[in-house]
Amino acid sequence: SSPNKSDSDYIFKIVVIGDSGVGKTNILTRFVTGTFHQDVQTTIGVEVLRKRTHIKSSFTNQNVEVELSLWDTAGQERFRVLSSAYYRQACGVLLCYDITNATSFQSIQRFWIKEVDHHTPPSCQCILIGNKCDLGHLRAVSEEDGIRLAESRSMLFLETSALSQENIAKAFETLAELILERME
Ligand code: GDP
Repeated sequence: SSPNKSDSDYIFKIVVIGDSGVGKTNILTRFVTGTFHQDVQTTIGVEVLRKRTHIKSSFTNQNVEVELSLWDTAGQERFRVLSSAYYRQACGVLLCYDITNATSFQSIQRFWIKEVDHHTPPSCQCILIGNKCDLGHLRAVSEEDGIRLAESRSMLFLETSALSQENIAKAFETLAELILERME
C-alpha cells in the first residue's frame, strides 16, 4: 500500500516553526518517541514524523483517530528561508518561542506570524507555544505577554517543556481538535 495511505480517519499536516534553538525538534521527539536530547542536533533536510492520536470530535462527541504528519524545519529557519513547500497543505502550525529568550518571542511577532499569513490559508490553525517552561528562573518572556499575543491573533496559547513533558501532548491534541472542529 502507498505510504501516504492511512487507516486513520484523517491526516493532518502540522508544521513547527520558530527561531533556531527554541526546542522545535525536542517538542516533536518528546511527543512522537518520548525522548529528549540535551545536545543541539541540527535537523538536516526536512524531517517528517508521524503519530496517530485519538481526539474527540466536538461535533459528534465521538473519538476520531487522526494521523499527524509533523514537519520539522531543515535547520533553514536560521536563514529565514523556509520554502513554500514546507507550508504547503499544512492545516496546523505550532509557532514556538523559548520563554528564556526574548528575541525568540520578538521573532514570532516580527517574522514568523507574517510567514504564516503569507504561506498558509486563513483556515490553517495556529497555536502559540512558549517552550522551556521548566526554566522559570531564567524566564525572559512573561506568561501575560504570551497570552496577549495569542489573543490578539485569536490563537491558542500554551507554555510547554520538552524536558519535563509539560503540555507537550496537550499542545498537539488541542491543535488537532481545533483543526477537526473547523472542518466539521
Ligand atoms: P530547535 O533548533 O528549535 O529544533 O531546538 P532543539 O530541539 O534542537 O533544542 C535546542 C536546545 O534547547 C537543546 O539543547 C535542547 O536540549 C534544549 N531544549 C529544548 N526544549 C527544552 C525544554 O523544554 N527545556 C529545556 N530546559 N531545554 C530544552
